[in-house]
Amino acid sequence: MASEGRGAWPVPGEAPATADLSRCVHCGLCLTACPTYLVTGLEMESPRGRIQLARLIDERRAELTATVQEHWSRCLQCRACEAACPSGVAYGRIQEHARAQLQAAPPRGRWAMRLRRFVLRQVVARPRALAAALAPARWFAESRLRGAARLLLWGRLAELERQLPANQGRPFRATDLPPGGEEPVQLFLGCVMRELFGEVHRATARVLAACGARVEAAAGQRCCGALHAHDGDLAFARRLAKANIAAFERTAGPIVVNSAGCGAAMKEYPQLLAGEPGWAERARAFAARVRDVTELLAERGWQPGGRFAVRAAYQDACHLAHVQGIREAPRALLRALEGCSLVETERADVCCGAAGLYSLVQPGMSRELRQRKADAFRAAGPEVIVTGNPGCYLQYLGAVREAGLDAEVLHTVEVLDRAMRAGQAGKER
Ligand code: SF4
Ligand code: SF4
Repeated sequence: MASEGRGAWPVPGEAPATADLSRCVHCGLCLTACPTYLVTGLEMESPRGRIQLARLIDERRAELTATVQEHWSRCLQCRACEAACPSGVAYGRIQEHARAQLQAAPPRGRWAMRLRRFVLRQVVARPRALAAALAPARWFAESRLRGAARLLLWGRLAELERQLPANQGRPFRATDLPPGGEEPVQLFLGCVMRELFGEVHRATARVLAACGARVEAAAGQRCCGALHAHDGDLAFARRLAKANIAAFERTAGPIVVNSAGCGAAMKEYPQLLAGEPGWAERARAFAARVRDVTELLAERGWQPGGRFAVRAAYQDACHLAHVQGIREAPRALLRALEGCSLVETERADVCCGAAGLYSLVQPGMSRELRQRKADAFRAAGPEVIVTGNPGCYLQYLGAVREAGLDAEVLHTVEVLDRAMRAGQAGKER
C-alpha cells in the first residue's frame, strides 16, 4: 500500500494478535451481517476488509495511514460479524487493539482523539464530573422551554435534542433501592445509566424486588470501561475493570446489568485482564456473576407478569444479541405479558447506529442506519419500541421523532415494571 500521510507501525503489546488475524479465511460469510458494508457495498467497509488492513500492517506490508484509520473508525464495533463468522474470528478484540494503535499514533484527528480521551477519563469515568456535565441536559429534557427551543435548533443540535429522554426523572441514587426479599442481587449502576436513565434503574430494582430479590448497589463500583476499550484506551479500561472487580468482591449474588454494552464488557473482563498478573482468576470469578437483567429473570424463572396491551417491537441491542447471545429471553418476557403482541421488524438485529460515541464521531453513517430503523418501524407500525441498551434507546427516540411516528421508546424493564404495576392496580380494584 502506498505511503500516505504519517504512517506508524503497530504499537508493541497493544496491536491485534497475529493469531487472531490469521483465523480469518476470507470466506465473506460475515459481509451481509455488517451494517457499514450493507450501506456502502465497499470491501474496506466490511469486517473482512478491515481485518485484511490489520493483517497487512501486522506483516509490515502497509502503514497505518489516515485512510486505514477512517475505515477502522467507521466500524460500529457491533460485532454482528463475529456472530456470523464460522471460523470464530474474535473481531471485537481485533478492533479494540486496532484502535489502541490509533491512540498511540493517530494519522489524523490527533486533537479530537485527545479530547475524547480526556472526556472519557476525566468526565465519563468520574461520577461527580459526569453528574455535573449532564445536569443541564437533564434539566432541559424535562423543561417547558424545550418545545420552544426545538424551533430554534437545527443540524446536529436538533438531532441531539430529539434524542434526549423526557421520562427518566432524577438520577438513580442508592436511596432509591426498594425493600426486597432474601436473595442478594447487585445492581450495576454504570455511568450514563445512573445519570440519564434513573427511571430504568428504578424499574429494574422494582421488578427484581417484586420477584423476591434483595437489590443492593455495591459501594465503589465504577463505569464499566466499555467506551474506553472501544476507543482503544485499553489501559484505562483495565483500571476501571480492576476497580469494579474489587468493589463487587465484597458482595454476594449475581451482578445485574441493564445496559447491553456494559454487560458485554464486564463479561469480557477475563480477556481484558488476561495479561495482568494476579487478575485472571478474579476477573473470571467476576464475569461468572454478571447477568443481563432479562437473562437473570429467565434463568430463575422469574416472571413479573401483568398487563401491557400494546403492539411492541423488540429491537436486539448488538451487544446483547451478538456478544452475549441473548435474543430469546427478552422476547419471551414480553410475550408472557397479558395483551402484549410482539411485532418483528425487518432486520431487528442490525445495528441502529448508536454504538457508544459513534453517533457523535460518525454522524453520517449513524444517521443513515437510524433512518433505516425508522423505515422499518413505519412498515411494522408498533406502538412501543423496546430495547435493552441506553445508546439504542436514544437513537430510537431520534428515529421516532424524525419520522413523525406515534410510538413510545422503552427499556425492556420499563415495560415489565409498567405491566407489573398495571397488574397490581387491577388486583387492588
Ligand atoms: S471474519 Fe469470519 S466470516 Fe468474515 S471473512 Fe473472515 S472468516 Fe469469513
Ligand atoms: S463490528 Fe459491525 S460494523 Fe464493524 S465490521 Fe463487524 S459487523 Fe461491520
